[in-house]
Amino acid sequence: MSDFVNEIVRNLPPSGIRRFFDLVVSAGKDVVSLGVGEPDFHSPWHVRESAIFALEKGFTSYSENLGLFELREEIVKKTKKETGVKYNAKDEIIVTNGVSEGMDLAFRATVESGDVILVPNPGYVMYEPLIRLAGGTVDYYNPLDVKSIKVSKKTKGILLNYPGNPIGNTFSKIDLNYIANVAKKNDLLVYSDEIYGGLSFDFPHISFVSLVDMRERTILLNGLSKTHSMTGFRIGWACAPKKIISAMNKIHQYSALCASSISQIAAVEALRRGAEESKKMFEIFKERRDFCVKMLSSMNLKIKKPEGAFYIFADVSSFERDDVAFCENLLKIQKLAIVPGSAFGSAGSGYVRMTFAASMEELTEAFNRLEKFVKRY
Ligand code: PLP
Repeated sequence: MSDFVNEIVRNLPPSGIRRFFDLVVSAGKDVVSLGVGEPDFHSPWHVRESAIFALEKGFTSYSENLGLFELREEIVKKTKKETGVKYNAKDEIIVTNGVSEGMDLAFRATVESGDVILVPNPGYVMYEPLIRLAGGTVDYYNPLDVKSIKVSKKTKGILLNYPGNPIGNTFSKIDLNYIANVAKKNDLLVYSDEIYGGLSFDFPHISFVSLVDMRERTILLNGLSKTHSMTGFRIGWACAPKKIISAMNKIHQYSALCASSISQIAAVEALRRGAEESKKMFEIFKERRDFCVKMLSSMNLKIKKPEGAFYIFADVSSFERDDVAFCENLLKIQKLAIVPGSAFGSAGSGYVRMTFAASMEELTEAFNRLEKFVKRY
């Protein structure tokens, strides 16, 4: 009998992060994990309370496909404040089930069979599979060197993610202007995943849509998962020209209908009154970032200080060339879970990713275990 599975899906490799986490589960108790990239804080209480209130009031129906209008208005205000760019709440914003769904819609609405999209290597795990599912293919660039961006006749667009997962890199104004010139010269569409834009520690985040002439060729993706510790609410959004939002909404209305109404009410609350709590989390992440850099440098691990997000990407190749073996042994011997860099693309091999979305106690314990482990080499 046929296995009925679509060929593109059959050929997609399983996520290297998930595969590793199956091992973590089987490693049993006492594992310290710096693996999963989500804030360790509870969502702010006033946000959770507004979701409870929505339930109590029976606010449990579908919303408009594009999302609650009042939420879209809040997104417009936030985007204007942070980027200087004005979008129309009526037809230039779509609320999605996290940036994950927004990204899927963005690719499916724009990628034609055979199109090439440039993606960072190393880069977050979702881009390449979603592009392939949309019928496209990818070429890679090094997110630490914008000059590595090479455009061919088939290149339709470029994916940006800054501050980036897994390196924590961001782009300077000079880098961004360089990318903008490439995009303009080659008529590229830009998918800008700025989910960590609110977690840029050393410089103000510059949104790609704020660059001259870029608003019209950019799909800006953002959400509340990371900056407001609301991963489970599944709220993200895209801002883009009307034609693109309308195309994304065509898919969204068939595949999702809308994001959860309860979560959308909570998102309105987060955007109206959540800035202070978000700022507190930012300060804690920054303090942890500095702590991690100090601890890892003292262990002679080669790292680049992350400028944003909540990850450290460390070069472990002087201890062990095979990053998967490094992580498997670390888990087996010291019960510390971190992610092999090769899960983020070929350029990540020889590296590991650790998140500092963990308490100081967990980080301290994790670094004690890591230090004992690397002393074996
Ligand atoms: N984009 C990046 C770069 C991420 O690291 C993640 C989650 O780790 C996402 C998007 C997914 O975010 P969401 O929870 O909004 O779907």
